[in-house]
Amino acid sequence: WSDALTKALPLLHVLEERGFEAVFVGGCVRDTILGKELKDVDIATSAAPEEVIAAFPHTIPTGLQHGTVTVVHEGETYEMTTFRTESAYEQFRRPTQVQFVTSLEADLLRRDFTINSMAMRADGTIVDPFGGLADLRRGLLRCVGDADARLQEDALRIVRAVRFAAAYRLRIAHGTWRAILRHRGLLAHIAMERVGLELDKMIAGSGPHQAAAWLAASRLLEYTKVKLPEPLAAAAARYRSDEPMHANMQTAIESLIELSQPEDRWAALCMALSLNAEQGTELFVELKYASARSSQLAAVIGLHREMLDVFESGIASASSKQWSNRWVRLIVGKYGVAAAREWLRVTRALPILVPMLQSDSADTSLALLDELEHRLNTLPAFILKQLAVKGSDVLAQQKDRQAGRWLGQTMNELLLATALGAVPNEKQALLNLADRIITLGSAAY
Ligand code: ATP
Ligand code: MG
Repeated sequence: WSDALTKALPLLHVLEERGFEAVFVGGCVRDTILGKELKDVDIATSAAPEEVIAAFPHTIPTGLQHGTVTVVHEGETYEMTTFRTESAYEQFRRPTQVQFVTSLEADLLRRDFTINSMAMRADGTIVDPFGGLADLRRGLLRCVGDADARLQEDALRIVRAVRFAAAYRLRIAHGTWRAILRHRGLLAHIAMERVGLELDKMIAGSGPHQAAAWLAASRLLEYTKVKLPEPLAAAAARYRSDEPMHANMQTAIESLIELSQPEDRWAALCMALSLNAEQGTELFVELKYASARSSQLAAVIGLHREMLDVFESGIASASSKQWSNRWVRLIVGKYGVAAAREWLRVTRALPILVPMLQSDSADTSLALLDELEHRLNTLPAFILKQLAVKGSDVLAQQKDRQAGRWLGQTMNELLLATALGAVPNEKQALLNLADRIITLGSAAY
């Protein structure tokens, strides 16, 4: 019993006292058996949604038509779903209608894989009609009942199979694997949002490189609506053809697990595949991820590419200040501090992404990254708001000028000069420099 389950136990008791059946179900049962930390605790019950709402003081009607009510209890939220079956499948997508049923077993039967089709009662007994426990012990991912039927009902389960196999290091049962290959064409009907969510969980999960291997072996992405950027498609094809992938690329994918943040893993994957910023954005747009995510990804990839050029052009020959100035220009003038921090996290964990760092001794590489990090952490200013002058100050000083593009440009130059340490962040010094910038441009500092 984990703390998370103990905390949720009173919810089962409330429903049982009212004469309903109520059990923990799905992922939380699976992860409890494996001794893994629980992400969320889901509850299935014979109580109808309105009966659940009546039983608890604080509920949110999350998905009434699917029988789901969210119950808030001691600061946590729990999804409580009425026992149901899903009968009317349309176009290989999940149904718009469900039937409520009274039997727990019927509810478990509608689920995807045996390891996800176990329930746990309040007294700790496991309800496992399809052999999920045995499959977990054997390390096997298997559809509940007839694999062909399950995957045809909801083709997203094909992608979910890969996610669970990768995250839990399972083999995929023979019959399930054959059904995956047979029905993968149905993925063309699945909304990209749902596929994107599963891919995100694959990358964030405990087996990102296993997921990549399964995806390549099954060619699933080719059958979805996603248009893959060319380098990604090429890498997948090489993976399948048993042609050794570029060794660095292989090592990088195997090392994704070293990064704790999912966004860093996506960035590292794109770097390993040599995607450029446009291709990274394209991928995220295809997967329907939030635009803030794709712009951050594009910034990190863009910065990475330019840093490769900086390293390529020879660090050893330049003074350390000279080349780390280029880093500062990229951060302040173009990609921003957040991208810089992310790039440092990624390259520290996966130095293989910067081949030029490999040729130097590990000590030198580390010293170079330390130097970049130091410049980043000691930037006198990196956004206009931090400057000791405002645009209105500069405008007031230029008596015969109207506000215009020149003003923004001058402010940006002042910011860059300050960040580079060419001028102290003081009002009079900056106003003097503004005068010179207006006549000389960036040659002024
Ligand atoms: P995770 O820990 O990654 O959240 P999970 O098993 O909880 O894993 P969810 O996607 O949260 O996965 O789904 C909860 C449960 O609902 C699953 O364990 C499974 O029983 C059932 N389920 C979810 N999606 C499907 C689906 N497409 N088809 C059938 N059953 C599903
Ligand atoms: Mg879950």
